[in-house]
Amino acid sequence: DELISQIAAGEVVERPASVVRELVDNALDAGASHISVRLAAGGVRLISIEDDGAGIPPEELPIALKRHATSKIANLLELESVGTMGFRGEALAAINSIAETTLLSRSGAQPNAYFLDGRTGELRPGARGIGTTVEVKELFFSVPARRKFLKTDATELAHCIESVRRHALARPDVAFTIWHDGKLIEQWRSHPGPDGLAQRLGDVLGEDFLAGSVAVDHQYGAVRVTGRAGVPDISRSRPDQQFAYVNGRFVRDKVITHAARSAYEDVLHGQRQPVYALYVSVEPARVDVNVHPTKIEVRFRDSREVHQAVRHAVENALAAPRA
Ligand code: ADP
Ligand code: MG
Repeated sequence: DELISQIAAGEVVERPASVVRELVDNALDAGASHISVRLAAGGVRLISIEDDGAGIPPEELPIALKRHATSKIANLLELESVGTMGFRGEALAAINSIAETTLLSRSGAQPNAYFLDGRTGELRPGARGIGTTVEVKELFFSVPARRKFLKTDATELAHCIESVRRHALARPDVAFTIWHDGKLIEQWRSHPGPDGLAQRLGDVLGEDFLAGSVAVDHQYGAVRVTGRAGVPDISRSRPDQQFAYVNGRFVRDKVITHAARSAYEDVLHGQRQPVYALYVSVEPARVDVNVHPTKIEVRFRDSREVHQAVRHAVENALAAPRA
């Protein structure tokens, strides 16, 4: 089982940022309103993610580290319409097989927290408020061939930050902080309410993006597209940054990317480096999120409809007077 987990880890965990993604997914699934990410040496030495979510009862702590242990899906039919980020029950087991992993968690029903050492299996009482802290140390310590492929700490750190940015743009209502080697790097406070997304976009992508972008809001058939798209002057002066979400999940999707690019080319005649954050909502049954182990790819039942929806949404936004 250890070997199978290590193989699964190869698919799920490529670098520290993959661990960050999985752990932040879990914290969001647990209903956290504040997630704190602490990293050392680009995340290779340490990734510690603390949340104020529901926590894990002590009897479930050892199970959480087992393969195919998920509390999020009751049967295979539910795979059709998963609303949570995780659902395969593989991430923690995979991470535990390639790094020193510990859990410290307290659920609302418990008077104190419990600590689990993923390597020895030791479970003992610990101290913290309601929520969970997952610590992952010395990534790939037992898989030197993988560790060799890691880049410099600075590069790995940049990937970790990017991973948290993707989450932060999906959940303006959740506060995030990122620490690296003891220094506070990013702090995005919670923005609940209808203007939350714009505020979070300003925090994460900069006030200049907010000022230099237009609101996107378009319904096409069963597809709704919202977000903001950068206008040409801003797009030209910034690094290439495209954020696309499907039902709240960050995705890399050719249909969305192509549709957005086409819209920029139509309206702006050759705009090459669009900057945007687009949020596509479709009925869960019309999109398959179980295509890729990291859930970063999706398959639409009607990709033509999604393409049209995104293209029209961005075209309309760019063609309209600035708002
Ligand atoms: P999945 O997210 O696919 O269910 P994981 O391996 O990521 O699988 O996590 C296994 C289980 O551990 C989850 O289903 C959940 O019950 C529990 N868990 C993990 N992280 C947290 C967390 N931060 N807060 C509460 N429960 C958690
Ligand atoms: Mg998970």
